[in-house]
Amino acid sequence: MSVPTKYVYEFAEGSRDMAALLGGKGAGLAEMTRLGLPVPPGFTVTTEACKVYLATGEEPDEFGVEAAHSLAALERAMGRTLGAPDDPLLVSVRSGARFSMPGMMETILDIGLNDRSVTGLAKTSGQERFAWDSYRRLIQMFGRTVMGVEGELFEQAIAALPQSRLRSTGGTPMAQRAVATDHDLDTAELIKLTEEFKDIIRKETGEEFPQDPADQLARAIRAVFDSWNGERARIYRHREHIPEDLGTAVNVQAMVFGNLGTDSGTGVAFTRDPATGESGMYGDYLPDAQGEDVVAGVRDALPLSELKILAPGTYIELGDHLRTLEAHYRDLCDVEFTVERGKLWILQTRVGKRTAEAAFRIAHDLGDDGTISTDEALMRVDGAALTRLMFPRFDTTPADVPLAHGVPASPGAAVGVAVFDSAEAVRRAAGGEHTVLVRRETTPDDLPGMIAAEAVLTSRGGKTSHAAVVARGMGKVCVCGAEALTVDPVARRFTTESGVVVHEGDTLSVDGTAGTVHLGALPLTASDVGRALEAGTGTGQLTQAVLGALAHADSVRGLEVRANADTPEDAARARALGAQGIGLCRTEHMFLGERRALVEAMILASDDTAREAALANLLPLQREDFTGILKAMDGLPVTIRLLDPPLHEFLPDRTELAVRLASAVHPDPHDRELLQAVERMHEQNPMLGLRGVRLGLAVPGLMAMQVRAVAEAVIDRLGAGGRPHAEIMIPLVGTVEELRLARAETERVLAEVAAETGTTLDCPIGTMIELPRAALTAGRIAEAADFFSFGTNDLTQTTWGLSRDDAEASFFPLYLEKGVFAVSPFDSIDEEGVGRLVELAVEAGRAVNPRLETGVCGEHGGDPDSIHFFHSVGLDYVSCSPFRIPAARLEAGRAAVADRTGTSDTR
Ligand code: ADP
Ligand code: MG
Ligand code: MG
Repeated sequence: MSVPTKYVYEFAEGSRDMAALLGGKGAGLAEMTRLGLPVPPGFTVTTEACKVYLATGEEPDEFGVEAAHSLAALERAMGRTLGAPDDPLLVSVRSGARFSMPGMMETILDIGLNDRSVTGLAKTSGQERFAWDSYRRLIQMFGRTVMGVEGELFEQAIAALPQSRLRSTGGTPMAQRAVATDHDLDTAELIKLTEEFKDIIRKETGEEFPQDPADQLARAIRAVFDSWNGERARIYRHREHIPEDLGTAVNVQAMVFGNLGTDSGTGVAFTRDPATGESGMYGDYLPDAQGEDVVAGVRDALPLSELKILAPGTYIELGDHLRTLEAHYRDLCDVEFTVERGKLWILQTRVGKRTAEAAFRIAHDLGDDGTISTDEALMRVDGAALTRLMFPRFDTTPADVPLAHGVPASPGAAVGVAVFDSAEAVRRAAGGEHTVLVRRETTPDDLPGMIAAEAVLTSRGGKTSHAAVVARGMGKVCVCGAEALTVDPVARRFTTESGVVVHEGDTLSVDGTAGTVHLGALPLTASDVGRALEAGTGTGQLTQAVLGALAHADSVRGLEVRANADTPEDAARARALGAQGIGLCRTEHMFLGERRALVEAMILASDDTAREAALANLLPLQREDFTGILKAMDGLPVTIRLLDPPLHEFLPDRTELAVRLASAVHPDPHDRELLQAVERMHEQNPMLGLRGVRLGLAVPGLMAMQVRAVAEAVIDRLGAGGRPHAEIMIPLVGTVEELRLARAETERVLAEVAAETGTTLDCPIGTMIELPRAALTAGRIAEAADFFSFGTNDLTQTTWGLSRDDAEASFFPLYLEKGVFAVSPFDSIDEEGVGRLVELAVEAGRAVNPRLETGVCGEHGGDPDSIHFFHSVGLDYVSCSPFRIPAARLEAGRAAVADRTGTSDTR
């Protein structure tokens, strides 16, 4: 037998578990009613009723009877009748969806007032002015929200009031106007304004303001339903990823009044400070006002502590209720409250939003006092919040006017002198100078400069431009697309819209969190958390809270966390931040800078002897690099990837060369040779070209040189008493045959070096899985691999058949808007497609080789959602940039807790 659907719940019938049906606000009102808190009585119309109304234009059949029944109950409870002429019951009609959408939908107050009940209200309250002010507010709100009258028309009518009525407060004209509407109109003027408002409605709609209270109520409920599809609400849902089809509930509640004199008022209170997490009551109070005035910021509110002086009894009672709520919800709560002639009413509660800092401190404190378990405390924080806490910040004042605004591409604060190319950044950094690399846009060639600089500033490109993506990956501050800047790299300067010229060497402050750039050095506040994490210890309450959460995460997580690091400095930093090895050591940057000449010589070599000579020159340099990295990671695994990108990336740009040759009086023969090489190696689609293992197999001696450099570095470290654990990783393998060939060559060189030095070399050899074919044939490939490392960047490109560099700038914005995907598959792993390949490959690989080690080294390794997925498919480790390691540790811990306890893993 099916239970008939119920569309209306009295507050006493609901509970906190019913947020889907009653909305967050309704569930909170119900829960507080059950707890015995002083909540004005009322009832909630369900989200189901809203859905029916939005689909059909009519409420469900049962609704009318149920609503009438609940209204009658409310009237009995209050001993008054809605809109009755002598002593009217007034109600508010409040929106409230499942997920908090503050201020995004409509709420209508004072329903039940009309030409007759306004005098009744005047009599029972003893305040004529108050009654008429309430009435004109209702007409204004109802006219705008329900009858669709332009709100500006009412504002104009208020603004047209004689200036003499505006009390001088020394505030802005806006504030004075607001004060006038609130407090300074006398009854006669309010009555006049009420008539004017009714005229406006009549003129605009051809309809009278409805006098029938039941009609007002019914229409207000529909207006709230409709506000679910209002523009504000839709935009907000899109940004917050709230589903479109949930609908809103509607709460009908007896009105209480905070504007009945100095013994009345309204406010907002938190059980703890939502900014810092400091425990103890916190909030604002506005005497003699309605709640809407606080939100509108009409008058400056007082700190809540003032209430202690104004009304000590009320203050104590409020404190009791806040403690009750926090103990009940076991979390930070906030409430909206109103005091009507000394009587306290609670109008709303919810688990409060908070800053990253407060999130960690509150979780820690509640865990400490036993309110929640350490597992729960871990689930109350997340990696994104931790990352925010790690960035240093500027200490700015409003007086610090920026030179320009751009896209806040990678957060944090950095100060340095402006430089206009990569080489200058590298040169100055070598001399210990901090720099800001300023470019129109960046290319892979700028990488050394980006590494050397403190911040990157570009005048073109958005959040997914090269500069933005690379900077974020490195945890480097970046503002991109500052279009007001005209960058002139040749003259080495940029000009702002207002004509300010900034030359190379001038000091800049770049705020990657705000997306601004300032001239000169703004004061920096180092992040205590960042410092404490690198040191592994710290004293402040916040750092204690962060370290505590991480310690618990480390104790429960199944995933290891390794770093993507290419230099000894990065390796050391990663290790300090908790990395358990290097999951990806790229060797390509070891081919850049001054070594370019050697690489060119290798590429241009006309015969084996010339090539071997060039490679022999590179060998000691590579060996040194590896020795440094193995030293920094002593005792921990270091996965070294053999050269991956196509060789032409190490040669000059084709057009640039051609122009140089064409315009030179005496063309450089070397340039001519280079151009020929560039043209010979040109590929239509280098992403799918001669790179990865293909390169290693095609260029004689290249792979051998790299393997030898690794092997000799290991020998060096062993000789120095170290414990090196190098692993060699072959990129872009598509078939086991490629891996077999590469493996044979690798083993040959390893054996050679072992024999020369009389040592045994234990060096696992594995492959990246970054092509669908590799994933699909993982069972075969595992026969020749000691480990798999999923290169999910390339695997995403090749699975989707798109090039990231092109796609992100062209159709991704459209796809995101149309909902083809909710988030870029490069930001979070596409579980259904790319993730499925990972899952298949792990399974097939382990079936063949039970000792196969599996990890992920794409950028997804540092993404919270992806980490939860990698946990679920049972990878051994994730690898990410050093800066993201603490967040990855935290998320790996949260994934393990979510898995074990079956709790949801989102806040
Ligand atoms: P929002 O979801 O935008 O916060 P609310 O439904 O909470 O909207 O309403 C806005 C304000 O209206 C509240 O802050 C509260 O002060 C006031 N309000 C709502 N219902 C009542 C009521 N029954 N009595 C007095 N004030 C009310
Ligand atoms: Mg509210
Ligand atoms: Mg790759």
